[in-house]
Amino acid sequence: MRQLILLLGDHLHVDAPALQSFDPAQDHILMIEAVGEGAHVWSHRARITLFLSAMRHYAAGLRAQGLPLTYLTLSSPEFAGRALCDRLAAALVAWRPRQLVMVEAGEWRLAQQIDATAAAADVPLRVLQDPHFLCSHEEFGDWAKGRKRLLMEHFYRVMRRRENVLMEGGEPAGGEWNFDQDNRKSFGRKGPVNLPQPRRFLPDEITRTVMAEVAAVFSDHPGSLAHFDWPVCRQDALAALEDFITHRLAGFGTHQDAMWSDQPWLWHSLLAPALNLKLLDPREVIAAAEAAWRAGLAPLPAVEGFIRQILGWREFIRGTYWLDMPGMAQANHFGHANPLPAWYWTGKTHMHCMAQAVNTTLAHAYAHHIQRLMITGLFGLTAEIRPDALADWYLAVYVDAVEWVELPNVIGMALFANGGRFTSKPYAASGAYVKRMSNYCTDCRYQPEQRVGPQACPLTQFYWNFVAKHEAVLAAEPRTALMAKNLARLPAGELAQLREEAGQRLARLDTL
Ligand SMILES: Cc1cc2nc3c(=O)[nH]c(=O)nc-3n(C[C@H](O)[C@H](O)[C@H](O)COP(=O)(O)OP(=O)(O)OC[C@H]3O[C@@H](n4cnc5c(N)ncnc54)[C@H](O)[C@@H]3O)c2cc1C
Ligand code: SF4
Repeated sequence: MRQLILLLGDHLHVDAPALQSFDPAQDHILMIEAVGEGAHVWSHRARITLFLSAMRHYAAGLRAQGLPLTYLTLSSPEFAGRALCDRLAAALVAWRPRQLVMVEAGEWRLAQQIDATAAAADVPLRVLQDPHFLCSHEEFGDWAKGRKRLLMEHFYRVMRRRENVLMEGGEPAGGEWNFDQDNRKSFGRKGPVNLPQPRRFLPDEITRTVMAEVAAVFSDHPGSLAHFDWPVCRQDALAALEDFITHRLAGFGTHQDAMWSDQPWLWHSLLAPALNLKLLDPREVIAAAEAAWRAGLAPLPAVEGFIRQILGWREFIRGTYWLDMPGMAQANHFGHANPLPAWYWTGKTHMHCMAQAVNTTLAHAYAHHIQRLMITGLFGLTAEIRPDALADWYLAVYVDAVEWVELPNVIGMALFANGGRFTSKPYAASGAYVKRMSNYCTDCRYQPEQRVGPQACPLTQFYWNFVAKHEAVLAAEPRTALMAKNLARLPAGELAQLREEAGQRLARLDTL
């Protein structure tokens, strides 16, 4: 065997880079399902199902092309082993390929393990750059060089110019790089109106088989499979893209930060899982959004806001992961040490905002960005939860979770655990924010404005406790000085009571 091509679960590219110089007469493809990958963190059953179903659909496409492929299912006896690398090691020993070829992994841990496995088997490993991304590690490293703080907005402008996206005569379309001031609206009392329901992709036979296997092998894992309807192949992914562009893109911007009870999707694209598996190319997603604006089908603020997420945030976040690993995984700027409350896995909490975000997550393996950042993430920050514990939770529970995108979002964005490496301030807020951006507080046992007493909103109480603890640092930074200043406005004596109660609650987060 000349080359053994290892195709990982999130490497389901349209034109697989590792197959570019493929010779069926002397090369072979290997795809591995491994129990260990589903159990490395306590993965949601829908997350495992998505990966395995998408892999099996992809494998069917390779077989239809007549390409030589060995596909190891969870239960296939060939090259048995729980860990992906145990199965790989056995294949390397049996086949002795002259070279192992793969596209760069999406996770530092796996990259190290595969490297070590190939070395132990004495098989040279060739790692190909992933052409899915618009910015390579080298390009991001060059951009980041010499910058103490990495700001997405600067990176985004470079990418807009370089890729010539939403540009007119060398200037940003509409004269602004960023239309976020138009994109922060709440729904008002009536809630979302004319909400389009996203297209569903009901499980086909392959997916149903995977669901049954996952339910059996991962029977004690969290999350429901009852609502599984994610796109699992290229055709579905393209249909999901079209559905978003046609029905939700125009409304994407306005209520991007808003939340509403029992409305998990709103105007979000739901494209992250298909993108992260590489079933969609970010270039085609960006081009489709820009074309919709040019055709007058969606307003510029919505389209710019959406494109910024893909061309800006997604590429930026990936750059920071590879730049700062492995240290990023251990970052704990505030030294937070609280364990993750058990209700993150059950949704059984009296805080209605948390129950909404967690229950949506358990039902669909999805929560939209603002729920992740400003509900479960915000709580993690001010409730002083250990960053690695919360990061493991995020990696486990979302269909789109791959560590290169999950970890920087948790460590850098939600928790400020890397000390502001790429955020200019911690995303700390009180229950007043949740009240403004959602209807969650109307159904809650707690009161968002109340700072002390049994009905005090835990988010409000923890927020002021956080500000009081870090008052000096917050006061010294222009973007957070107001937080510290407002602390002085609390009624005399209240702060001591608030901190006392917050301390008691922080010691029993499970009961909130
Ligand atoms: C704590 C936390 C954890 C997160 N974990 C993940 C994760 O594991 N996987 C993941 O793909 N995204 C993650 N995100 C980013 C974002 O929340 C999700 O990409 C988004 O919610 C997915 O839903 P959507 O496809 O409907 O996105 P939309 O709201 O429709 O956004 C459009 C697209 O932009 C991209 N995008 C938006 N925001 C970000 C961001 N901050 N970082 C990278 N890409 C972004 C995604 O590809 C997304 O599909 C996380 C964010 C936070 C705050
Ligand atoms: S009152 Fe506090 S805990 Fe309850 S929903 Fe509002 S923000 Fe969440």
